[in-house]
Amino acid sequence: MSRVADTTLYDDLGVRPGANDTEIRKAHLRLAKQYHPDKNPNNEERFKKIQFAYDVLSDPERRELYDQLGMDAVKGDGGGGHPFASAFGGGDIFSSFFGGGGGGLFGGGGRRRRKGESFLVPLEVSLEDIYNGGTSHVEYKRKVICSACNGVGGKKDSVHRCRNCSGSGVTVQFRQLGPGMVQQMQSKCSDCNGEGEVCKEKDRCKTCKGQKFVDEEKKLEVPIDKGMKNEQKIPFRNQADQMLDMEAGDVIVLLQITDHPDFKREGNDLFMTKKITLVEALCGFTMYITHLDKRVLQVNCPQGMVIEPLCVRGIKEEGLPVYRHPDVKGNLYITFEIEFPENGQLTEQSIVELEKIFKRKHTSVDPEDNFEEVDMIDIDLTKATNEDVHNDDDDDEDPRGAGGGVGCRQQ
Ligand SMILES: [Zn+2]
Ligand SMILES: [Zn+2]
Repeated sequence: MSRVADTTLYDDLGVRPGANDTEIRKAHLRLAKQYHPDKNPNNEERFKKIQFAYDVLSDPERRELYDQLGMDAVKGDGGGGHPFASAFGGGDIFSSFFGGGGGGLFGGGGRRRRKGESFLVPLEVSLEDIYNGGTSHVEYKRKVICSACNGVGGKKDSVHRCRNCSGSGVTVQFRQLGPGMVQQMQSKCSDCNGEGEVCKEKDRCKTCKGQKFVDEEKKLEVPIDKGMKNEQKIPFRNQADQMLDMEAGDVIVLLQITDHPDFKREGNDLFMTKKITLVEALCGFTMYITHLDKRVLQVNCPQGMVIEPLCVRGIKEEGLPVYRHPDVKGNLYITFEIEFPENGQLTEQSIVELEKIFKRKHTSVDPEDNFEEVDMIDIDLTKATNEDVHNDDDDDEDPRGAGGGVGCRQQ
C-alpha cells in the first residue's frame, strides 16, 4: 500500500494509506461527529473535507484512482473541493475522458494543468487471476516524442514558424457574397500542410520524418489484486500519447473477466452446478471440487441428508477474496442437478423394493365414477411443433416452459 500517489485524503480522515474499510468508516464516523457544522459553523470547511475524503475512500474504484493518480483524478478545480463525483461515479468514464476538449478534466488545486486525452485499454483476465491475484500486462501503441530530434522535427534552428499562416496551420479567406455580406472560409495552410511550421527537406529529422513523434509499442505490467471487479478501471498516470506542450493523458486499463466453465461469480460469491445421481441424492456421497487455486475440496454429504432436485447448498468462505481484504472471502454455492434412472432401468424387483422402502400408497378411484384413460407420451418441448402440442397457430411466441400438454421435462 505504499504506492499511493498522495495521502491528503487519508490525512483528512486520520488513517494510514493502507487502512481497510472498517477503519475508514470508523474514522469518518468519529470525525463527522466531532466536526459537524451543527456544533460549530466554523467546522464547515473541515467537515466538507472529511465528507469528501470518505466519499472517495469508501468507493473502491475512486480510491484506486486516487491512490494511483492523486487528487487530480477525484477532484475538480472549481469552487473549493467540489467532489468530482459524477465523472467517476458510474459508467460515465468514457464521456468524461473523451467528451471534454483538450483534457480539462485533470485540473487540480487551483492550477489548471493541460493534459492530453486518456484512453481505455481492455484487459481480459480469468476468474483464476481474480481469485489468486498476480500480474498481467497490456500492450498498446502510443505516440512518444522523437528522441532523435527531441520533438523539434528537424535539425536545431531548421524548423521555422510558417509565414503563410503565422504558425496557426490554417489560412482564412474572405469572400464577398453581397453588399455587407462576407463569408469567412478557413482552410488548411498549404505551405506547411497545417503543421504551422516549415522545415527544409534535407534538415528534417530522419527518425520521425519531421513528425516530432514516433510510435512506441508500450507494455504495461498490470497488478491484478484479488477480488477485483469486472469492468474495474486500473489507472496508469501519463501513459497515453505524449504531448509537446502538455502532460500525457492516462491509460486506464479496463478489466474484462472471462467466463469460467465451472464457476460463476456474483459479487464475492461463487456459484456452481453439480450433477449427482439419484442414489447419491438419497444415500449421501462424497465429491471433489477443484477450486480456482487448484486446491481440491472434498465435499461430504453424510448419510441421512437428502439432496432434493435443484437445491442449493453453501460452503462458507470458499468464494472470492474481497477486494483489498483478501483474508475475507465470500461463499461458494452449489446447485445440485439430480440424474434420475433412465426409462426401463429399474427392474420389477427393485420397484417392489422401492415401493416397500417408501411405503407407497396407491391412489384408488371409485369404479362407479366415470373416467377416461389416457396415455402419457414423451414430448420434447424444445422441438415440439404446434401440431404436436396443440393446433393454435397464433401461439408461436408461447414459451413452452410450463404446461403445454402432458410431458416430462428433461433437465
Ligand atoms: Zn525526430
Ligand atoms: Zn502554414
